[in-house]
Amino acid sequence: MYDTIIIGSGPAGMTAAIYAARREMNALVIGKEMGGQLVWASEIENYPGFKSINAFELIQKMQDQVSSLGVEIKNGDIKKIEQQDDKTFKVYTSKEVYKTRTLIVAMGLSPRRLAIKGEKELSGKGVSYCANCDGPFYRDKIVSVIGGGNSALDAAEIMSKIAKKVYLIHRRDEFRAFNALVNEVKERDNIELILNSTPKEFIGEEKLEKMLVENSETKELREIDLDGAFIEIGRIAHTDLLKGLIDRNEKKELVVDNLTRTRTEGLFACGDVTQVEYKQITIAMGQATISALSAYQYLQTIDSEKNQKK
Ligand code: NAP
Repeated sequence: MYDTIIIGSGPAGMTAAIYAARREMNALVIGKEMGGQLVWASEIENYPGFKSINAFELIQKMQDQVSSLGVEIKNGDIKKIEQQDDKTFKVYTSKEVYKTRTLIVAMGLSPRRLAIKGEKELSGKGVSYCANCDGPFYRDKIVSVIGGGNSALDAAEIMSKIAKKVYLIHRRDEFRAFNALVNEVKERDNIELILNSTPKEFIGEEKLEKMLVENSETKELREIDLDGAFIEIGRIAHTDLLKGLIDRNEKKELVVDNLTRTRTEGLFACGDVTQVEYKQITIAMGQATISALSAYQYLQTIDSEKNQKK
């Protein structure tokens, strides 16, 4: 029986683990990918203490710190969570069942899909959701980036330094990314903007060869020959697993109070998966600190109530 199980091994999960260990809680972290959404970043420039740090270096430092405090980190995908009559939880992965007195959900967000023909079939065969991870495979090739936010423009900027040619495809003619980034992208000779346009299909036999894009005004279809496509259209919460235990908003984000408590006693949530307005690393880590301290406080309270009854 663990004192707490932390679901997610991104910055929020790692922070919760550090605070849990410092309160001498017997903690376990279960995550799908070490670093969580940090793996999609390149350089982090808004993390106090480091003017600029490589995302993978930061992930490694976090992992080392958590391990040095004796917290075990397991790779796993959670399939089911149940609360028992005694208020403890059972957490099921595909291979094992774990028992814990509290749970801290820090599972972050996942990439939004375009949901068009060929996307699923060619995913990993030219269609990617992470320019930072897969970008280097496209040196001197032709790629597209889809989206109009900071992620898409960041990806286009990164890819313009690696690929021969980058098409930036956006459904409107205005970007929601920072102006400085938009200006930088517009100045790159090898980036071609395809605006007011929606991707319709990815085409390829063994791997991606072309994509079809429709102009929203003229309805004209354009076929683009390319080697890679990066879908950067935002991130969504995959929280169906917690439907019966935690209230969710219209975006399926988890609803928590200012102590990161949910409607289920002993169950806390923090980071980007919650309804927090700004999805930022420092905010996720601050919330995770609250989660670990709230979980500790919750255990203290139930233990002292038990002792009084004795
Ligand atoms: P985002 O800001 O939500 O932008 C998503 C983009 O994808 C929008 O331009 C949107 O178009 C487009 N889009 C959404 N669904 C689409 C669909 N089905 N088909 C075609 N296009 C679609 O997401 P993000 O860029 O991933 O950024 C997420 C958050 O992280 C933001 O707060 C962002 O500022 C932050 N971020 C910051 C940095 C940085 O500080 N350097 C870097 C990356 C991300 P519309 O514009 O038409 O809605």
